[in-house]
Amino acid sequence: MKAEIISVGTELLLGQIVDTNAAFLARRLAELGVELYRRVTVGDNPERLKKALQEALQRADLVITIGGLGPTDDDLTREMAAEVMGLPLVLDQAAWEDIQTYFRKLNRPLTENNKKQAQIPQGGKALANRWGTAAGVWAEKDGKCVLCLPGPPKELEPMFEEEVLPLLAARAQGTITSTVLKIASLGESLVAEKISDLLREQTNPTIAPLVQDGEVILRLTSRARDREEAARLMAPLEEELHRRLGTAIYGRDGDTLASVVVELLASFGQTLATAESCTGGLLASRITDVPGASEVFGLGVVAYSNQAKEELLGVPKELLEKEGAVSSLVAEAMAKGIQKRASSHWGIGITGIAGPTGGTPQKPVGLVYLALARGKDCEVHKLHWPGSREAVRRRTVNFALDLLRQKLLRQEKNNQCRNN
Ligand code: AMP
Ligand code: MG
Repeated sequence: MKAEIISVGTELLLGQIVDTNAAFLARRLAELGVELYRRVTVGDNPERLKKALQEALQRADLVITIGGLGPTDDDLTREMAAEVMGLPLVLDQAAWEDIQTYFRKLNRPLTENNKKQAQIPQGGKALANRWGTAAGVWAEKDGKCVLCLPGPPKELEPMFEEEVLPLLAARAQGTITSTVLKIASLGESLVAEKISDLLREQTNPTIAPLVQDGEVILRLTSRARDREEAARLMAPLEEELHRRLGTAIYGRDGDTLASVVVELLASFGQTLATAESCTGGLLASRITDVPGASEVFGLGVVAYSNQAKEELLGVPKELLEKEGAVSSLVAEAMAKGIQKRASSHWGIGITGIAGPTGGTPQKPVGLVYLALARGKDCEVHKLHWPGSREAVRRRTVNFALDLLRQKLLRQEKNNQCRNN
């Protein structure tokens, strides 16, 4: 497959920014065996962009544009790509919904211009952008493909790994295989540090660390003649990553922290019940996202008020008055209360201040107590998260799931030792 890259942006021609995106793509394409024959840069000028697209399409099978997908009037790439291919632009409903969700999350007002960012040439494919707003574009006609990617590197790079790779793989000679290892409770920089030499020396397979929905993932990609060769190339790298990162790797590809926890609980025939205050049922929601969760999860309570904590979970009134609802002892009483009520093996109690208001110097926003009860034992963790209300809740739930996962893994290991 022959490819060309067109970088779009007057700021590139003025030397105000360096074209790191083209360098990134050039490296990735080389690794994937796609022949890159030419790179050009044009300003935000419709005529020159159109001309560059027409010329590139005469020579190459795949033309990749970078930038100019934003909402403003000088962002013209999608319009020009559609025009040159002779395809009308149509609204992609899923991409439009993604943009609306993104703005809602950031609490930013949406303008009619943003709708433009969800348009794609008819018959093409919108590439989901979970890292920003503009959807990417994949359009095909007469055996030629045009791929339009957004300018910000923090969007272009993950989008290439997550959305574009499968499309290229489908067209490649030989195979391009990729797999994702998912990591819990380790930040991106710590992961990168532990595998820095592997990142430096990577050739085939390649390793790309990415952050997705607040989680670090490693995407491994290998290029090979066939699936067997790909598997042979991938195995030693995967083994080495497991050796370095240990149980921080919780799963791969379609796994979620919750699905792994549900699977582990089911394998032991154990059950879990949850009592949540500040996470408002998010933990129960994540668990019940997993098909078959009913086997291990029967009761989740959102006990927001003190009264609910007393009546539903049996948290003593005096304790609530003396310690306050956000306290270690109340978290413990919640975990034990729900465990007793559900007659479950495990109980989780969560109480905290998700913010942005309600904090005090003694109990600041982001303070969360999380208790995990098992049999007669109970351990409580005092957590302090930075970030928005949503981030505090998400981090707490991830922490709870990962804590339980680590306990279950240890239980598994102990059982193995006993059986040996
Ligand atoms: P655009 O989509 O053209 O509006 O670009 C959005 C932002 O992405 C710009 O302000 C730049 O900071 C960045 N950007 C655009 N093109 C590139 C590029 N080729 N390499 C690195 N950064 C870029
Ligand atoms: Mg631009």
